[in-house]
Amino acid sequence: MADVIIKQIMVGGFEVFTYVVACPETRQAVVIDPAGEDEKILSLIREEGFKVKYILNTHGHADHVLGNQQLKKALSVSTCMHQLDNEFFSQKEVRELSAAELGLQPAEPADMALKEGDVLKVGTLEVRVIHTPGHTPGSVCYLVGGNLFTGDTLFVGSAGRTDLVGGSLDMLVDSIAKKILPLPKDTVIWPGHDYGDTPTSTIAREMEENVYITDFILES
Ligand SMILES: [Zn+2]
Ligand SMILES: [Zn+2]
Repeated sequence: MADVIIKQIMVGGFEVFTYVVACPETRQAVVIDPAGEDEKILSLIREEGFKVKYILNTHGHADHVLGNQQLKKALSVSTCMHQLDNEFFSQKEVRELSAAELGLQPAEPADMALKEGDVLKVGTLEVRVIHTPGHTPGSVCYLVGGNLFTGDTLFVGSAGRTDLVGGSLDMLVDSIAKKILPLPKDTVIWPGHDYGDTPTSTIAREMEENVYITDFILES
């Protein structure tokens, strides 16, 4: 039996990857970045018999949280986000700027604020929170065994924008260098958008091909 079930679902006009990550033994699961097309996500959960424990957001941008409220209602579970994005996107002026940038409102306040090193138990799985600021102040990656869900921090072949409100290229590069590259090289990267030539990658491959890593980190 596989040690983790991962469903990668492309949803919405922003072509976001929503993930359902489940424990094969207990069918307990988390949804990472429900980004719209709620019925598509819910029918998969029903068909597979998953028991969702948490909705996890990699960050507070509108495109990654579109389905939060509907899924929360349908599944009766808590939404979770890093405390810094929770605070950042609660500020009126930040909400206005972000809505103007992305054309949609950012995240509503989460039910549970996360911090670096938090571990959520989901059946036999452990979901570890790795704080990777840069794309937004409270961006995180979620590590489940050898799988890293990177949101808009790291894509296949590229990395997230840092020109949006709260972004910092220096912090993004620092996060990749200090928080992602030290992980085992065969760690699988599951990005927040389908921007690469493949839907997933590994840290080893990104160290060869991703310019944010080859030019900004390994060269310097
Ligand atoms: Zn984003
Ligand atoms: Zn995004």
